[in-house]
Amino acid sequence: MRPADALDRIVYLLDRALAEQQKVRAFARARDIVDEVGDDEVERLHAAGKLTDLPGIGPSTGKVIAQALDGGVPDYLAQLEQETIIPAGEGTELRAALRGDCHTHSTWSDGGASIEKMARTAMALGHEYMVLTDHSPRLTIAHGLNAERLRNQLDEVAALNETLAPFRILTGIEVDILVDGSLDQSEALLARLDVVVASVHSKLRMERMEMTRRMVAAVASPHVDILGHCTGRKLVGRGRPPSVFDAEIVFAACAQFDTALEINCRPERQDPPDELVDLALEWDLRFAIDTDAHAPGQMEWQAYGCDKAVRHGIEPAQVVNAMRADDLVAWASTHAA
Ligand SMILES: [Zn+2]
Ligand SMILES: [Zn+2]
Repeated sequence: MRPADALDRIVYLLDRALAEQQKVRAFARARDIVDEVGDDEVERLHAAGKLTDLPGIGPSTGKVIAQALDGGVPDYLAQLEQETIIPAGEGTELRAALRGDCHTHSTWSDGGASIEKMARTAMALGHEYMVLTDHSPRLTIAHGLNAERLRNQLDEVAALNETLAPFRILTGIEVDILVDGSLDQSEALLARLDVVVASVHSKLRMERMEMTRRMVAAVASPHVDILGHCTGRKLVGRGRPPSVFDAEIVFAACAQFDTALEINCRPERQDPPDELVDLALEWDLRFAIDTDAHAPGQMEWQAYGCDKAVRHGIEPAQVVNAMRADDLVAWASTHAA
């Protein structure tokens, strides 16, 4: 096994398990170093027992490299393959009915992998498409894309689509819903994109009616197709309470404007909470079961959202990413009409 491949797979599995970013970065860095140094030099260092002389290679990454070079599957890799498996749950059938993922990030904003790598992972998971939804400019900590960078990204996506066909990368954005409910990208650019996810990322503690107006304004935009992680809650670490808004009014707007509600699959988000999924069902909303993946391994999290959806009795016909790519794009374009 090539050491770089072993390290890359470890990064994937650590991400699948939502491991600490520090740990993920150590293995990702080791992978990049090994790639840069080249197989011959790595083998020479291994033969001399000097792998950890390489800056960035420590005892654990060094052991993986050594075991890979010795021809076996490194112990740590074998262990992670077992430990990080996402068990097949009640959502297995629904997951099989999904054809893509409508919320993914790449290194263009705050993701950990290139567009191509994310797309190839989606292909390996059996998807027919992936909507690329990097952040918008105001989210500076996430290196949100300004208009120029987004236009450049569209060129890269077009080129990749030539290579990866019949798989399709659909163009998109996770656009910030600004405090006044307006969207953090130009109308002309938003109109060019296949699918637009709109999310609140700032001022999450806004007063209830102000937050309701803010979200309704975004939902009503002809550019917005999916409302992302609607409460903004976080369940892991220090956690974060859900935003407070009148969900009856926001979901009534989603119904009126045919905006899908995202079931965000991230284990630390699990957004919306169960009671809001039930309320969304009363309003007969469409859903998008999306991973919000910031790394390849996280694209497997769709299983979690599917388990949750099935527990609420959601059928594939209610899920926008069960549609074929053409149908999804056609549905999204009806909002602009
Ligand atoms: Zn977000
Ligand atoms: Zn996101």
